[in-house]
Amino acid sequence: MRQPLIAGNWKMNGSKVVTAELLNGIKVGIGDVRTSEVAVCPPFPYLYLAEEMLSGTAIRYGAQDCSREEDGAFTGQVSATMLRDFGCTYAIIGHSERRLFNAETDAVIARKCQMVAAHGLTPILCVGETLEEREQGRTEEVVARHLGAVLDLPDGLNLLAKGVVAYEPVWAIGTGVTATPEQAQEVHAFLRQRVAEKDTEVAAKLRILYGGSMKPGNALELMAQADIDGGLIGGAALKAADFLAICKAG
Ligand code: PGA
Repeated sequence: MRQPLIAGNWKMNGSKVVTAELLNGIKVGIGDVRTSEVAVCPPFPYLYLAEEMLSGTAIRYGAQDCSREEDGAFTGQVSATMLRDFGCTYAIIGHSERRLFNAETDAVIARKCQMVAAHGLTPILCVGETLEEREQGRTEEVVARHLGAVLDLPDGLNLLAKGVVAYEPVWAIGTGVTATPEQAQEVHAFLRQRVAEKDTEVAAKLRILYGGSMKPGNALELMAQADIDGGLIGGAALKAADFLAICKAG
């Protein structure tokens, strides 16, 4: 009942030429992928290329962040209205790299989710613990807090009914170390249970993606887990062949 979503998080990589090549490679190769929904999230300056090259295809695209402000004097920020203007479907919100390098707090992340949803975009809310937190046995506490920042808002259930959650253990991001299917499933089931405590229907429909060194070689067994509904792919999304192989696993 939940259609898998495979989303590429291209982070701060690429150029006009490289981005166009990657978009083209995915567009041409996607033919035999039928079951999963596929999306790519290039850096802001290349969203125009995604719009040019992907419009009219089934491949969706989105941004890696969004301002929490509507418009105005916010130098360097990009608004949800602008993302909408470029035809974005998704915005990744609260990625651990933004929490770390841009000091984004749970409150800021929750506000961003509200902002993108208010403009008809789907937030992909990222949650996940660091290695230290896992070793201290605090994984559930941390992901519950990340999820709760949105879930506990007055409109939280509504936001999650429209949104996607991505469980991304920080220790697995870009490290080549992937959570085992069992480790990931345990956290995904926990997250779904938290939502189910408020509304079972929203929980049953919520897509929870796994992210953190997902690649062609482990995508199948991760996505075979009951509560893993796709992936948020970093490094492996930068090669069309690898990304397409993951899409086919979904
Ligand atoms: P990775 O990144 O696949 O390179 O580990 C995932 C992410 O940060 O979204």
